[in-house]
Amino acid sequence: MNRPPNFCPQCGTPLQDAPKFGAVRRVCPNCDYVHFNDPKVAVVTFITQENRVLLVKRGVEPEEGQWALPAGYVDYGEDPRETAIRETYEETGLHIEIQSLFDVMFYRGHNAVIVIIYQANAIGGQLQAGDDAAEAKWFAPTELPELAFESSRAVIRKWLTQF
Ligand SMILES: [Zn+2]
Repeated sequence: MNRPPNFCPQCGTPLQDAPKFGAVRRVCPNCDYVHFNDPKVAVVTFITQENRVLLVKRGVEPEEGQWALPAGYVDYGEDPRETAIRETYEETGLHIEIQSLFDVMFYRGHNAVIVIIYQANAIGGQLQAGDDAAEAKWFAPTELPELAFESSRAVIRKWLTQF
């Protein structure tokens, strides 16, 4: 998980806990390096077509075998919109175009995660599961499977209110 380092990534000296910039952080007594335990940022993509929503069946833990919206972590230096496009293509084989920002959610816990949810349109490609997805499929509101992750459930709840 998101464990702070024990040694300074700059000089290798064991880090110490010390108050710095308003919180207790790992600092290096040798070179003054300060470790910031940054939040993880995830992107979820909400794609609908003819009143159906695109879901992927997860092929890996956590929640292996459960269905969820296409999602993934933002790589360092990556625009979250690129993450949405990249992850959706990797998991479903579809090319998408970002339509709008749907929501931003925050999940507290040992691995603080900020989830950015985009609404997008499929503009090409061929539906085919890949990467860490075991299946990719369009679902009508009446045939929805049980969903993994609160972020996916929240999006689908909102989507269902329009029917
Ligand atoms: Zn150091």
